[in-house]
Order: sequence, then C-alpha cells, then structure tokens
Amino acid sequence: MFRVGIGHDTHRLGPDRPLILGGLRIEHSRGLVGHSDADVVLHALTDAMLGAAGLGDIGDAYPDTDPRFKDCDSRLFVTETLKKLSDRGWRIVNVDLTIFAQEPKLGPIKTSMREHLAAMLSLAVDAVNVKAKTGEKVGAIGRAEAIGCQAAVLIETI
Ligand code: MG
Repeated sequence: MFRVGIGHDTHRLGPDRPLILGGLRIEHSRGLVGHSDADVVLHALTDAMLGAAGLGDIGDAYPDTDPRFKDCDSRLFVTETLKKLSDRGWRIVNVDLTIFAQEPKLGPIKTSMREHLAAMLSLAVDAVNVKAKTGEKVGAIGRAEAIGCQAAVLIETI
C-alpha cells in the first residue's frame, strides 16, 4: 500500500540568526526566525511525512510552546517522525522538495543538501530531490523577507 503526504512552511528572515536549511548551515547575513532553528525545509518535510501516515501536523507533534524545542535542531523532528512511521510499518519511497528563496542563491548547495537529507532518511540520493526557485522579486519571498518550502513524500508499507 502507498500513501502520499504534502507539507509547506514559511519563516521570516531576520538578523542575528544562523541560516539553517535542510539541516545544513548556510553562510548568509540573515537567518530564519522561529521557535526552533526555523529550518523550513525540515519542517515542510516533517509535515509531509506526518501527512502521509495520517499523523496530524508538526504543530501538534512539536508545539512551539514547548521549551524543549526552543532553538532546537529540526533534524530531531525528522528523525523522530521517521521512527513513528517505521513503528507503524511505513517506509519512505521518495521525497521531492521545492525551496523558495530570493536569497541566498541555493543552486550551489542543492546537491549537498540532497546528499545530507538522503543520509538522514536512509534513502538513495536519487530518492531525494531538491529544487530551488526564487520569488521572482514578488511578495514576501521575492523581497527576501522570508524563505518557504514545499515537500511531497510517498510512503509504502514495509
Ligand atoms: Mg516552521
């Protein structure tokens, strides 16, 4: 049996924050603002995984009122959710991500992000796709006020 899930997230860019995307620290003058490390890529991915397995959303699973998640590494959300899926008899088939960022330019890091995510999820690199788009200078993302991400995940029974 197969199931599909989608996820979406947006965070604001602000000063004095490291920029963490897909679990990688990226050199930039500003970072994403949020309760955790605000990694939009891992938040969208976590929501897609939860969605595929019918397990609600990241806000239910990891509430931003919980001090445990203050400035936490969002890889925790992904690895814990992966465990929840496998406990219920699911494994991931593939992941497809689209990151929306006017800046920084993500083209140079797409491959390393893909490899990093594939290792995190114990998947082959070709089962994890990372796409990057600008905001075409329109809206909050286009004005480089925020970064967004969409994720799709297919899971199958083990
Ligand atoms: Mg988020």
